[in-house]
Amino acid sequence: MRLADRMERIGTETAFEAAARAKALEATGRDVIHLEIGEPDFDTPANIRTAAQRALDDGWTHYGPALGLPVLREAIAIDASHRKRFPVSSEQVVVTPGAKPIMFYAILALVDEGEEVIYPDPGFPIYESMTQFVGATAVPLPMHQEHDLRLDPDELARLVSKRTRLIIFNSPANPTGGVLTREDLERIAAVAIEHDLVVLADEIYGRIVYEGEHVSIASLPGMAERTIVLDGFSKTYAMTGWRLGYAILPERLVTPFSRLIINSVSCTSSFSQIAAAEALLGPQDEVVEMVREFRTRRDLIVDGLNAIPGVSCLRPHGAFYVFPDVSGTGLTGAELADKLLYEAGVSVLAGTAFGQVGRNHIRVSYANSQAKIRDALERIRSVVSPLAV
Ligand code: PMP
Repeated sequence: MRLADRMERIGTETAFEAAARAKALEATGRDVIHLEIGEPDFDTPANIRTAAQRALDDGWTHYGPALGLPVLREAIAIDASHRKRFPVSSEQVVVTPGAKPIMFYAILALVDEGEEVIYPDPGFPIYESMTQFVGATAVPLPMHQEHDLRLDPDELARLVSKRTRLIIFNSPANPTGGVLTREDLERIAAVAIEHDLVVLADEIYGRIVYEGEHVSIASLPGMAERTIVLDGFSKTYAMTGWRLGYAILPERLVTPFSRLIINSVSCTSSFSQIAAAEALLGPQDEVVEMVREFRTRRDLIVDGLNAIPGVSCLRPHGAFYVFPDVSGTGLTGAELADKLLYEAGVSVLAGTAFGQVGRNHIRVSYANSQAKIRDALERIRSVVSPLAV
């Protein structure tokens, strides 16, 4: 069977493949510690689960409006106006099955063949994949280790061309945990305004910040009308399997997004949306507790990795990932990731899963218990110590 040419250009998210590989190894009886996948290890808070159960019994089992249930769009508008610090109306909110489709829709709606999209490198692999899929050129914007895992706004300005349509960035970031400062965002905003560009701000980790503040670029003057804010429930409320995300859109994009939603998924699960409204409007203590626990684990893993010869790890300010440089081991990130899985039963990702800048890195997710992280650190040490030069 012949596939369409565009299938040559679609990428993937290797985290899912690595998880399958680790699971396959586990099925043979090996004990594997999972530090590869980007999801909180906590259960969805009980009040949210109860709301979903009640919603099922109350008959929220039918199709809903393409853009989302009014009660949830309203709750998102209230929450986002408060947390992201710009006025959000429920009309600008669209609800999607997970936040990932927002990348798809944004690129499909805005970018033509032959145009350019600037995206973070290392960064979430779907930005590059989708850009290439639509026949556009993905232009990598390096995130620098020596610059606290942040971008250089001057470099961004130099990458803009006549064909640039969209700038994508992600703060706090996957895979580095880096958090952009207000000044970084002001400078990105200045570039976007000067060249009349749209920004896709991936704020999925916006609540998981340990130092400093999370600033939404949409709150800066002149930016709400050119920013697509991507956010969702997967990370903040440990709801990855529910598939619930949302975008806050400039008004002009609401109808195009609605078309794309109707053409692809019709709408998002109704009872899940009722539960999502409870997530936003109900108590937030479990979120606060989860972030506190992630912070303790961050320090555990950063200190532990830095104590291993040949490994050098910055202390990121957000999300639940670290992206250590492993060049001191004499191996590439991909080689070390393989060795760790097969020789020590520790599953991590090769840095190149997030772009070529990641060649000498591995990505470690610390969304696992402190006991497992300690065990993993010991295992990593036992593999790496004999290698260190
Ligand atoms: N953006 C980033 C940077 C992510 O890491 C992820 C999930 N790994 C998403 C978006 C998508 O989240 P969701 O599960 O809501 O589709």
